Amino acid sequence: MVWNDEPSRMRATLASLWDLLFPPRCASCRERGEWLCAECLALCVPHGPGCCRRCGAWLEDGGCLTCALHIRHLDSLTAAYAYEGPVRHLVHALKYRGLTAAADWMALRMAASELPRAELIVPVPLHPRRQHQRGYNQSELLAAALAREGDIPTAGLLRRIRFEEPQTRLSASSRWENVRGAFEPAGELGDAKSVLVVDDVCTTGATMEECAKVLKHMGAATVHGAVFARTLLA
Ligand SMILES: [Zn+2]
Ligand SMILES: [Zn+2]
Repeated sequence: MVWNDEPSRMRATLASLWDLLFPPRCASCRERGEWLCAECLALCVPHGPGCCRRCGAWLEDGGCLTCALHIRHLDSLTAAYAYEGPVRHLVHALKYRGLTAAADWMALRMAASELPRAELIVPVPLHPRRQHQRGYNQSELLAAALAREGDIPTAGLLRRIRFEEPQTRLSASSRWENVRGAFEPAGELGDAKSVLVVDDVCTTGATMEECAKVLKHMGAATVHGAVFARTLLA
């Protein structure tokens, strides 16, 4: 018997038992089978066409206003979907209903949207108090799944030092104010020069830009962002 095989075999057995007891259900319409069924998936809008490659915002005629006003450190943002319809239901289920089992599936959809190459994956951290309330960080789950998928190391190199009210209650301009100085280094980059920052949702780009700022001050040459869903019009 190979001793090292035991934990992974145990995990696989537990995972299939879990699937048997709690088979995936569509987060939007509750149909059994997948985290988003084929019908709901057909309603999801892929992110990308018509959007800024650097910050993911919907492009107006004269270029990207968000980039012109705010983005200095983030090099690109890739999102699998626009944050609307069934996508919103799935993100809420992962975040607020404990549907952590959907994270692997969501990460696969993110990986399918041609993520930029990176030497290290860093999840956007929750404030420790928020993580304690929730019991997990959904961005860490996505980052871990992406790391396994791409065979790239992941490290929690950022710490959130300000406890904030949920950003959904704030206007777009106050979000940029609110997130300033919210993160600090929680480790060393080592030899990694290119970093992929992972989050579940990008609303304005403020969090991604702030994380990119800290990582570049830590020595990163390029910082790309990857999210499951991006709000088009904040
Ligand atoms: Zn459905
Ligand atoms: Zn932009």
